[in-house]
Amino acid sequence: MAITDKIYLKNHRQIASQLDRSVPKSIFSGATLDLLFQGEGIEKLDEATRERVLDFAADFLDCDCRNNPYCGHPERKFVRYLLELREQGLGPEATVDVMTDDYMVYAYPGDVLSFLDDSVRTLESVERLADVDGADGVERRARKLRRTLEG
Ligand SMILES: [Zn+2]
Repeated sequence: MAITDKIYLKNHRQIASQLDRSVPKSIFSGATLDLLFQGEGIEKLDEATRERVLDFAADFLDCDCRNNPYCGHPERKFVRYLLELREQGLGPEATVDVMTDDYMVYAYPGDVLSFLDDSVRTLESVERLADVDGADGVERRARKLRRTLEG
């Protein structure tokens, strides 16, 4: 399962009660995206929640693809956001705190940690392949990013 399948709405119960219907916990589930961003739901939310939802939409759902938000870009942008937090030196728990402050979503620190470990392993295999291939530029870039992620 991708890390984006493990990003949850912080006040999911409250949101469900404000919308007066059930809402999946996962922010990237199609039903949640539909409900919060495509439908009439958003004005029923209290102001603090609505602001965070709008920030999330502006930062991750802003592409012009015809099948937005199902084009894969929102998930990719969120992954980039996580990697940027790591590059700023944040560990898994601090990352979760920041995403909650920014967008009222959360993840389990252990899931963020596995995601970062997987990213490091992916970069290691990129480095190995680039080395075999003699692609020095790619190898250097992958190594640099990996070291940043490893902290
Ligand atoms: Zn897109």
